[in-house]
Amino acid sequence: MVRVENLTFGYSADGFRLRIPEFSLVDGERLAVVGPSGSGKTTLLNLIAGILSPESGTIEVAGTVVSRLSDAKRRRFRASQIGFVFQDFALLDYLSARQNIFYPYRVTPALTLDVAAKDRAEKLATACGIGDKLDRHPSALSQGEQQRVAICRALVTQPKLILSDEATGNLDPESKGRILDLLFEQAAEAGAAVLAVTHDHELLPRFERVLDFAQFREGIQV
Ligand code: ADP
Ligand code: MG
Repeated sequence: MVRVENLTFGYSADGFRLRIPEFSLVDGERLAVVGPSGSGKTTLLNLIAGILSPESGTIEVAGTVVSRLSDAKRRRFRASQIGFVFQDFALLDYLSARQNIFYPYRVTPALTLDVAAKDRAEKLATACGIGDKLDRHPSALSQGEQQRVAICRALVTQPKLILSDEATGNLDPESKGRILDLLFEQAAEAGAAVLAVTHDHELLPRFERVLDFAQFREGIQV
């Protein structure tokens, strides 16, 4: 599902540098990524999603080398193949929660907002406990509720790859478990792989593999 080879990336010549010799994720796999703050976890998710471009190396997602696509193609590829739960949610406040969940359909001609998609959105929102708040705008929702909207938006298109950046960070322990159940359930239904950055060590046993990110810091060997 994901194959990264000889990846190097830096925001600037003298700033943070990330170097990943090899990293892969198989279809349907559930991988947790842990590591100190500032070690480059969010950067890697942005590289895999094609939001950032590597300096060198290859990033392949579902058989497509994302690092070789044009900007427009990369955006379309991301919207149709990848569900991304951003660390800061990235919700649009001029849209209601429902419209935020449907956003991938607005920006991707290849996706059709049909009855099935609308039905999926309602079911996801209800399962997340925000079914009665879909007409509200993000600023009228708590952090935890905003996070759930972001999760519904990432899942509604039934992506093959789910990238989740601290998606349960703002939730209470009971909700965390429930949201992770939902994420895994949706992933299993769609045969999707999950790459989840998390600081919740009590959630780690629920993943098939845990990757400690500290090893990728340039100059530091495993
Ligand atoms: P993590 O998600 O593991 O906390 P990040 O990937 O967000 O780490 O950041 C890794 C490093 O890159 C940090 O040192 C951070 O300050 C730096 N960084 C992140 N985003 C930018 C940016 N847009 N420009 C310059 N440096 C950045
Ligand atoms: Mg981060």
